[in-house]
Amino acid sequence: MDIKKLARPNVLALEPYSSARDEFQGEANICLDANESPFNTGLNRYPDPYQKELKKAIATMQNVPMERIILGNGSDELIDLLFRAFCVPGIHNCIICPPTYGMYAVSAGINDVPIQWVPQLDGFALDMNGIRNAVNQDTRIIFLCSPNNPTGKRVPNEQIKELLTLPVLVVVDEAYIDFANELGGMAMLEAHRNLLVMQTFSKAWGLAAVRLGAAYGDEEVISLLTKIKPPYNVNELTQQVALRAIANKDQYLSWVAAITGQRDVLKNILETLPVVDEVFESEANFFLVRMTHDAGRVYHYLQQKGIVVRNRSTQHLCDNCLRITIGTMEENLELVEALRQFN
Ligand SMILES: *Cc1c(COP(=O)(O)O)cnc(C)c1O
Repeated sequence: MDIKKLARPNVLALEPYSSARDEFQGEANICLDANESPFNTGLNRYPDPYQKELKKAIATMQNVPMERIILGNGSDELIDLLFRAFCVPGIHNCIICPPTYGMYAVSAGINDVPIQWVPQLDGFALDMNGIRNAVNQDTRIIFLCSPNNPTGKRVPNEQIKELLTLPVLVVVDEAYIDFANELGGMAMLEAHRNLLVMQTFSKAWGLAAVRLGAAYGDEEVISLLTKIKPPYNVNELTQQVALRAIANKDQYLSWVAAITGQRDVLKNILETLPVVDEVFESEANFFLVRMTHDAGRVYHYLQQKGIVVRNRSTQHLCDNCLRITIGTMEENLELVEALRQFN
């Protein structure tokens, strides 16, 4: 796999912006190089543009070299960087398999990248033949989401491996992998240069507000993305908070255990309710639930009770489906009571 053949020519040739922090990296008592304020607020200096301390902590935790990691202002920024690094607008296409996360298509649209839609088959299985047939000489990226939003279904590792034989970048968005029953793409990184795994601190780590996403991939892919990212894309407060969270990993583990424990309980109870037709098996922190009634009506009914869920019924294969996040035990019980009273 020649990464250079996938990359946009102008990005390959690009001379990146060199920040004050790039040009001076030693120790100094007097910093007059970046037009910062000299007055100490604790935050008056620009942050490390390469987030070395945070990356080192993540590298250790994930057992991946630092050179294979890029951090972004949320995964959403990383999705945008992927389009800008690999797709010439109006020419190079990507493959998206609905129902899935909406940001791939929105970001493709913003970047004027054509989309080849390959809808999932009944039972939310990837249409493997459809994907293979959709790949052409202008295809640059396939987006997979595992476990998938909004279905909660994981892409089997065998299917990821099969798609990795195609001459395109295979992006596996693992925003919910923390809740899954099996490990995902991280173990395949070494063997496949065209694999990029994306994860986030927004879900299991409880840090949606800090905006921190990570992508793991081939060194050459990562260095292309790093070259075009805004220099200070991950701010100092975010870096500090994430370092603290990683140092306190037991908290994260206990939250994940609490959610996956609630997941089994909630599924069993939901399945007994007359308003519920089907609760799809989920390896994430939410359920896709098919209602026996109009999902829009159930949605508004819950909203009146102060409970907001996501109506996914316009999505492919998701007729009358709501996506319901797993909350605390108390919240889940309130949801169940409200649904029980629906008529
Ligand atoms: C929530 C979510 C993300 C997280 O995005 P951030 O920008 O990191 O908050 C990424 N992908 C999917 C599929 C998600 O559902």
